[in-house]
Amino acid sequence: MTPGVRPLVAGNWKMNGLSGSLAEIDAIRQAVDAGESGPAELLICPPATLIAQAAFRIKGADLRLGGQDCYTEVSGAFTGDISAAMLKDAGATYVIVGHSERRTYHHETDETVRAKAEAALKAGLTPIVCVGETHAEREGGEQAAVVVRQLRGSLPPEATSETVVVAYEPIWAIGTGLTPTRKDIAAVHNGIRALIAEMYGAQCAKIRLLYGGSVKPSNCNELLTLDNVDGALIGGASLKATEFLAIAAAYR
Ligand code: PEP
Repeated sequence: MTPGVRPLVAGNWKMNGLSGSLAEIDAIRQAVDAGESGPAELLICPPATLIAQAAFRIKGADLRLGGQDCYTEVSGAFTGDISAAMLKDAGATYVIVGHSERRTYHHETDETVRAKAEAALKAGLTPIVCVGETHAEREGGEQAAVVVRQLRGSLPPEATSETVVVAYEPIWAIGTGLTPTRKDIAAVHNGIRALIAEMYGAQCAKIRLLYGGSVKPSNCNELLTLDNVDGALIGGASLKATEFLAIAAAYR
């Protein structure tokens, strides 16, 4: 963990969740209100269809909501897209941008991701900018170069420690049960910290660096308690409040 930084434990529900799933958010709220969730800031990114209802249910709690993607424009003829301003209006304070599933299935480039991060900042949302290498890139020892290229291309120039979060998510670890070793995570996160210091200096000295990829209650202590790992981005294990809260407990 970076000294003086509040860790962020974020759940990405992906395309999962109907209104019945709001009971999981109620359960997280109860734990937060009871002081049982530990010191980390907790964030749930449900499907956009649930954000407004979830916002109503978590009102007044130390719990955040986020979108899973936003469009680059504020409004207009972009059928099916959702702007950062709309997410904010629904009750979100964060938005994930550049998740590998967006980069892969929707062919999003670093340039697009940066434009989305800028749109998020303009709307007053904190973008969580995702980067990470494929299995072939890892096998070829290219992980550092890939992450450097993605960060240089995806981070907005106006990023600060307070307004932007970075998530390192090796694509081969997402949803597979595979995880890098502590040594591998430390190497990438230390490299990201050094790169961001070079790019931004003091402006981003305490930017939060999340790890994502098959984080579970059984491995969270091992994966999340490294220098320069300031939280987690969790997919599958965030769908159940009990598992999500068990992961957040790594910071207790
Ligand atoms: C993710 O999709 O961001 C993710 C980390 O998924 P999982 O935890 O299921 O690997």
